[in-house]
Amino acid sequence: MICNNIGVNEKGNLTFAGQDVCELARKYGTPLYLMDEEKIRENCRTYKNAMDAHFESALPVYASKAASFMRMYEIINEEGLGIDVVSVGEIYTAMKAGMSLENAYFHSNNKTDYDVEFAIENGVGYFVVDNEEELYAIERSNKGNPAKQKVLLRLTPGIDTHTYEAVNTGKVDSKFGSAIETGQAEEITRLALEMEEIELMGFHCHIGSQVFDSDTFLRGSEIMLRFAAEMKAKYGYELKELSLGGGYGVKYVESEPEIDIAANIKQVSAYVHNLCAELGLQVPKMIMEPGRSIVADAGMTLYTVGTIKQIPGYKNYISIDGGMTDNPRYALYGSEYTLFVANKATEPADFTADVVGRCCESGDIIQPDVTLPKPVRGDIVAVCTTGAYNYSMASNYNRIARPAVVMLNEGKSYQAVKRESLDDLIMNDL
Ligand SMILES: *Cc1c(COP(=O)(O)O)cnc(C)c1O
Repeated sequence: MICNNIGVNEKGNLTFAGQDVCELARKYGTPLYLMDEEKIRENCRTYKNAMDAHFESALPVYASKAASFMRMYEIINEEGLGIDVVSVGEIYTAMKAGMSLENAYFHSNNKTDYDVEFAIENGVGYFVVDNEEELYAIERSNKGNPAKQKVLLRLTPGIDTHTYEAVNTGKVDSKFGSAIETGQAEEITRLALEMEEIELMGFHCHIGSQVFDSDTFLRGSEIMLRFAAEMKAKYGYELKELSLGGGYGVKYVESEPEIDIAANIKQVSAYVHNLCAELGLQVPKMIMEPGRSIVADAGMTLYTVGTIKQIPGYKNYISIDGGMTDNPRYALYGSEYTLFVANKATEPADFTADVVGRCCESGDIIQPDVTLPKPVRGDIVAVCTTGAYNYSMASNYNRIARPAVVMLNEGKSYQAVKRESLDDLIMNDL
């Protein structure tokens, strides 16, 4: 199985977190997002334990854009991780979930004055500053506050990860951050050090998403630490924190490797310690910002099969009762997924088809060219590894209501987000 929380029971039905997904589909209806709470916690602990073991001071920070709703923040809070937030909406959701914002890191390449004021007023611990204009906005908004605002500066190390273009953010020509190569990183560092309301805690880089080779983090940390050493030599600045961003890869299909996150963190630690010794730097507090690898394999989406269309000599289509409104990732990135017919999990797979949604777009494809046991109307299709960037990217296109999010834990299930109703859809229409 693609992940150890997926199985098949004696009825031949697919199970997730030990529970029969056909029964869950009957109980809660489809489309339905399932989340395995124990897997989320296990993934949090993998990072927490490894970072605690290998660094003097470190914090994993959950990149909450991967899956953002109140129950998620409660779980992250209980597991002792910080959060990375990218909008006032995420900050508000975290606050309402009772999360302290002391270890919140506020990202975004374009924070408005309102965003900056909202975050300062509500005590967001850190700004991850993208550009000089943002520094000036913080300097203005923080006037009168007794404490300085802590910031990390987001720098672009100039690394091309050869992952998909849309998730490759470390290159010099990226819309994110200030480039080291062009001198802009030094410029913004100098500016931050001069400002009265700013406490420069350190530097941040995010090289890309879905990174499988540990090499990328080593190269990222090398460039950042060498830059920090240069800033120490020129301005006497001692780096306190270094954030390496997010992005260990997640296995979506059998052909992808499985990453040993703990072993990778150990390797990064050894590398960082050696390099700091060589450069005469203190080992900084280390931050990582995993999103996908905390929640992706904790998720599964269930759909009910509707129309099956066979076009002789061409192809077959299996239509399901959701689509790009609940999972736009194939439409956006051509992402791969592993699928099952949940009520036929032990039957031979001999029917090849595109699994498509019900939106009015030809590009509304969940996954093309999958081979499954031939389904009939009413069967349940399960799409695995949908915990990240599915619910959080869902839309109401075609006035389709967003599905519920149901959490699974120790044989029990409960709703974390309820299904949108028709009245929810017209709630803001005047
Ligand atoms: C999206 C993002 C992350 C999380 O990336 P994952 O691939 O989900 O782990 C972390 N940091 C920043 C700055 C991001 O933009």
